[in-house]
Amino acid sequence: MKVLIFGAGQLARMMYLAGAPLGIDVQAVDVSNEDVVNPVTKDKLPLSLAEALDAADAISVEFEHIPEALLEQARLTGKLLPGKEAILTGADRVREKRLLERLAIPNCAHRIVDNVEQLDQAVDALGDKLILKASRDGYDGYGQWRLAEREDLPALKQTLAALDLKKVPLVVEQMQQFERELSLVGMRSKDGQLKFYPLAENLHHQGQLHVSLAPAPDCSDALTGQAQDIFSRLAEGLDYVGVLAVEFFQVGDQLLVNEIAPRVHNSGHWSMQGADTCQFENHLRAVCGLPLGDTQARGANVMINVIGYDGLDLELLKVPGSHLHWYGKSVRVKRKMAHINLSAGNYKQLGEAMLALADYLPASHFPHVLGEGKRLQ
Ligand code: ATP
Ligand code: MG
Ligand code: MG
Repeated sequence: MKVLIFGAGQLARMMYLAGAPLGIDVQAVDVSNEDVVNPVTKDKLPLSLAEALDAADAISVEFEHIPEALLEQARLTGKLLPGKEAILTGADRVREKRLLERLAIPNCAHRIVDNVEQLDQAVDALGDKLILKASRDGYDGYGQWRLAEREDLPALKQTLAALDLKKVPLVVEQMQQFERELSLVGMRSKDGQLKFYPLAENLHHQGQLHVSLAPAPDCSDALTGQAQDIFSRLAEGLDYVGVLAVEFFQVGDQLLVNEIAPRVHNSGHWSMQGADTCQFENHLRAVCGLPLGDTQARGANVMINVIGYDGLDLELLKVPGSHLHWYGKSVRVKRKMAHINLSAGNYKQLGEAMLALADYLPASHFPHVLGEGKRLQ
């Protein structure tokens, strides 16, 4: 079978690696030039986009920010999974908020702003601790601005004056106080079967995911049930097929949806070592109409992103249960270069392994690793 993925980054690469044992050939489209490439070597394959679309058994995405014309071309083949509507919803925070409102799913208090002058009303309504998000093309905290107090508003307005808010409005959200961030990665098959990985607890730094812990400690059945119920309503509301991720803020016992990602997700990378069937294989299974694999976690797992540098000390592989997944990209500030998965029998052992691993990591890049390791002890 052949699966064509729009986007040729690390997620397509990991889908390729997961597909190989099943005989599923994953090809990727570099959306910047429409070249069809091998997702690992990035070598251009000798076929046009039209030929690749035609040859594919299923077409999917590794990233939601795909030019709409390309998505439409894929939709017309009848093979795009998840569907265009689901991908566009994940790519546009205004559509996403509309879906959450329509399904009555709790989320952060917000206003949609398409003119800087409306910011005063937003502050009146929401208070002066705000996070402003461009409705499209943001990820890893890019395309976001924060307001800490009202007197910073004029400067912020000046910064935003350069944007065309009529074309790309802002979603202005109240800065939410929360206990922690959680995410639910799960999948829906063509015949509507749902499966979920355990909730992951996610630690962000400067708007970017650094560490995921799975299963998230201290999750009651009620909390897990709440997350799965929200996930199910979203997946059914979007007639979704494939892996979907839902990001939450936990406020007391309540979950607020932060955003959804219509694809495999960084907070599911732990499943490569920590679950029977990883999210990449399960996404391929779902879009190819194959039976879904087991999603239970084995023991306790952590995923640590390697961000903004190479030259990682490979002696870290001495730490029992550690695995490195290198993406083969050139280094840039804030760029996700690789991740390290670490698995142990229980949280205490995982904490010990994290402290051992921290010896090999530049502490400045991993403010959470030491703290989390100690917390789990
Ligand atoms: P991703 O890479 O996950 O797609 P993104 O750029 O789409 O990130 P968000 O997930 O919306 O951005 O926000 C990034 C992070 O910023 C969140 O995980 C959270 O830590 C923080 N954040 C976002 N919105 C809020 C909010 N309303 N209140 C408090 N913190 C927030
Ligand atoms: Mg996002
Ligand atoms: Mg996010």
